[in-house]
Amino acid sequence: MSEAAPKPEELVQINYDPPRRDWRDAHVDYRKGTFCYSAAAKNLQYLDLPNPRDWQPFDKDWKLPPNWRETILQGMKERLDKFRSFRLFMDICVRCGACADKCHFFLGSADPKNMPVLRAELLRSVYRRYFTLSGRIFRGLAGGRELTEDVLKEWFYYFYQCTECRRCSVFCPFGIDTAEITMMVRELLNLVGVNTNWVLEPAANCFRTGNHLGIQPHGFKDSIDFAVDELEEITGIRVEAPINRKGAEILFIVPSADYFGTPHYYTLLGYLMLFHEIGLDYTFSAYASEGGNFGLFSSHEMMKRLNAKMYAEAQRLGVKWILGGECGHMWRVVHQYMNTMNGPADFLEEPVSPITGTRFENADATKMVHICEFTSDLIHNNKLKLDPRRNDHWKVTFHDSCNPARAMGLLEEPRYILRNVSNQFYEMPENTIREQTFCCGSGAGLGTDENIEMRLRGGLPRANAVKHVRDKHGVNLLTCICAIDKATLPTALEYWTPGVEVGGIHELVGNALVMKGEQERTTDLRGEPLHQKEAAVHA
Ligand code: SF4
Ligand code: SF4
Repeated sequence: MSEAAPKPEELVQINYDPPRRDWRDAHVDYRKGTFCYSAAAKNLQYLDLPNPRDWQPFDKDWKLPPNWRETILQGMKERLDKFRSFRLFMDICVRCGACADKCHFFLGSADPKNMPVLRAELLRSVYRRYFTLSGRIFRGLAGGRELTEDVLKEWFYYFYQCTECRRCSVFCPFGIDTAEITMMVRELLNLVGVNTNWVLEPAANCFRTGNHLGIQPHGFKDSIDFAVDELEEITGIRVEAPINRKGAEILFIVPSADYFGTPHYYTLLGYLMLFHEIGLDYTFSAYASEGGNFGLFSSHEMMKRLNAKMYAEAQRLGVKWILGGECGHMWRVVHQYMNTMNGPADFLEEPVSPITGTRFENADATKMVHICEFTSDLIHNNKLKLDPRRNDHWKVTFHDSCNPARAMGLLEEPRYILRNVSNQFYEMPENTIREQTFCCGSGAGLGTDENIEMRLRGGLPRANAVKHVRDKHGVNLLTCICAIDKATLPTALEYWTPGVEVGGIHELVGNALVMKGEQERTTDLRGEPLHQKEAAVHA
């Protein structure tokens, strides 16, 4: 853990008394642990973004281009004309405050500028000043603010303290989506070369090698082969994991962390077992070796470019449809933006499960089915032999990852699977799950160690709900279906709620799956010994 993180008993001392200074004072203290570092010039160059240079947010001089203000205001005008939602979100907020205490960053930091309403006001005040008649005439009296360098620096700080999770929008009576406002500000900041490395490096890697981590095709193949070998040791069965196989029925795309990170990797093992067991005709792609899309955290154009490669690969390989793994923002991009950016994907077929015959009509436009939809359909049609006792060492709860929950309404399928692969499943409190789920605190490109204090503050509400089920039911495993969750929640839980581990749903599917011809299982997918009686079931 970073040195910048204070102890939990210090961090939990949160004072919600409003500060005395006027909120329009834009000065920001760039304190270590609360912000992300700037993007390296090489990554801007790789992505053809403007103003590549060496700078850091704590520098006095950000080396902005001389016409930075005009560039941003012109960019704002173009976007107000292009995106009707953007103009609406600028105009219709009545400042009712219903969203104010719904943001995990506000709850964890008490900084009023982390209230969604005030976060948006940081931009809205500039909108009023330059794009409304009253603001142009009366300026500050009409709630307008000049666009100064301090305001720009304040934008960078607070719009990179928003994980674009959209919890606040669930509570807004007008449906104002603060995440869209954050996206717009980040896009404006990009116009003058103000961006973070944790967002742009994965995006640049994705262009170069197909995935965020920059893993080249042979490295991708090595890691899949390693997983196949390991599965053989656990189950005695050698599965096939085809890559770049033309003419396969289905292209399977996962976030790259699934084949390089822990605990994600156990989820990958679960997928491979499942596909072998049902005899699925599928392929991975070494180029579409990333489901995640850090373009979502940068600009619409970047998001579109990164999303396009998944569909280009589907076309090149000649598959019928796409199956997607446990990822968060991949699904938000696919469900909310793909169809108007790169779709409709008419060159693919409406997805039909080759095992059950179920037509996934909901995926008719995107031609992409979520692995939880696919697996729950298999279970519902009795196509899998499952022994949930193999997961009896886990008392399980489920964290609804923000994007599958709020951007695609995937609420029941993960729970249905969990109830079939585990005997001990406990829900967290109602106002912290399903549509109201709390963010992990590190989405939207904030999951870096330099930002550790804000990550932990943002993760506090989620960890607090986990603590409730840990203390009440003895829960020791938090399951989730997002690669960022799996990367950041172990840190947040170790800090706030020790004793609870993190895993994917298909890890538990893999544990419970009884495969034809398997050897006696002595360990789970983590290599932990199974209890004697669980192992004996299949002796
Ligand atoms: S809930 Fe909606 S209308 Fe009310 S303050 Fe928040 S953004 Fe504005
Ligand atoms: S989208 Fe999420 S992180 Fe951003 S203001 Fe709303 S609740 Fe906070």
